[in-house]
Amino acid sequence: MRDARSDGEAAFVPDPETMRRLGYRAVDLIVDRWARLPEDRPWGGATREELAAILDGPPPATPQDPEALMERAVEQVFPYTARLDHPRSFAFVPSSPAWSSVLADILVSGHNVFQGTWLASGGPSQVEATVLEWFRVWLGMREGAGGVLTSGGSAANLLAVVTAREVAGWPDAPVVYLSDQGHNSLSRAARVAGIRPEGIRVLPTDEGLRLRPEVVQGVLREDREAGRTPILLCANGGTTNTGTVDPLEELAGLCRAEGLRLHVDAAYGGFAALTPEGAGELEGLGEADSITLDPHKWLFQTFECGCLLVRDPGELEAAFRSRAEYLQDTDVTGAEINFGNRGVQLSRSFRALKVWLSVQAIGTDALAEAVRAGILLAKQAEGRIRDSAELELLHPRGLSVVCYRYRPEGSWSEAALEELNVAIQSHLMEGGHAMVSSTRLRGRYALRLCIMNHRSRWEDVEAVLSRVEAQGRRLAAGGPVR
Ligand SMILES: *Cc1c(COP(=O)(O)O)cnc(C)c1O
Repeated sequence: MRDARSDGEAAFVPDPETMRRLGYRAVDLIVDRWARLPEDRPWGGATREELAAILDGPPPATPQDPEALMERAVEQVFPYTARLDHPRSFAFVPSSPAWSSVLADILVSGHNVFQGTWLASGGPSQVEATVLEWFRVWLGMREGAGGVLTSGGSAANLLAVVTAREVAGWPDAPVVYLSDQGHNSLSRAARVAGIRPEGIRVLPTDEGLRLRPEVVQGVLREDREAGRTPILLCANGGTTNTGTVDPLEELAGLCRAEGLRLHVDAAYGGFAALTPEGAGELEGLGEADSITLDPHKWLFQTFECGCLLVRDPGELEAAFRSRAEYLQDTDVTGAEINFGNRGVQLSRSFRALKVWLSVQAIGTDALAEAVRAGILLAKQAEGRIRDSAELELLHPRGLSVVCYRYRPEGSWSEAALEELNVAIQSHLMEGGHAMVSSTRLRGRYALRLCIMNHRSRWEDVEAVLSRVEAQGRRLAAGGPVR
């Protein structure tokens, strides 16, 4: 009879030779994917029914060959995904990690660090502090500001809203102000933080899709007169929709004068501060009380890596620190940081290593150039759209986002234009040409490019725009559909 336990032991920890062989195989599979990426389709999908038929089934009782399983994942699982790092992936907010970020993930996984306390992870916790300090300087926040790495921007926004509620002393009728262009994770954060619907005020933006300080001032007065307590204004450091940045400097001034806390959601746009163009658009960002960043977006990191920075990290600890007898050994001298006390995760992975390793492996000059390339390509796309007789720019470029649509000659109703552009968009996706997405601007359907991949070149962007024109021409040949 086979000994299930010793079979199992070898499966937990194979001999070093086998570990190496399997490890190198995993690396080969990853490198093959990266090398083939430009020729690969930017997107693959299937229905639940189709995928369940391939993948569902009970787990086996006996050990299976890990190499065959890895190969199966590569053949049957990963193909059904968006390749967010494909050079023609411009949908939503893409992510194109640097190789050094992947290497760090491998190291972290193999060392399986628990990064909730300094005691369990002094080295990694110092690396996180170092990386946060880099971010603080890049964004121009005051000395002493700090924060925590999170799973992403949504988690960071949640910490920001909860911290605001705690700093305000959890008043009876707290009010959080959001822009109508704000990311949906902010209103969700407010709900999770226990803010009642009437305390979540979504403010209208102006023609440029920016928050107006007068509007903020007006609602503040109104709410205070009604006995409510404003606790937080959430502004945008680059909206997901259009890349638009709110007038941060003016809003910071207003918040200071009104004693209102300012949070800037810069999950998409924050790292544009590394470039002269982006720093110009993000003027005033560093004056915020808290800032959300997403290194897994424009800092070329693998998922998951988000960040919340606050002017005073003590506020985070006041909001999230919780004492437990079984953690009494974890305070060292008091100067050390227990990152588990700066958010809701106690067991945390060592996310900082990938930032630390890749920023140094690339160097800040090349890093800034890669961010800048996205902005310059978006500018070029904006010019190309303005010059085209068939494309209509629907909003001025913001950072690296451009919104536009196909618009043929003749009189087309809004509904007919929408139908036409929906068809163009699905042609691009289904045909495997590009990964693009759409949005709605003041009710109008817009095609959208978000350009932030270190691999993307002008010919990738141009290929999408030319195909939109060609397909638009083909579909519009018969005249308006209605
Ligand atoms: C992506 C994004 C978020 C959410 O971040 P996740 O990392 O996806 O959780 C929040 N705000 C903005 C502006 C974003 O672009």
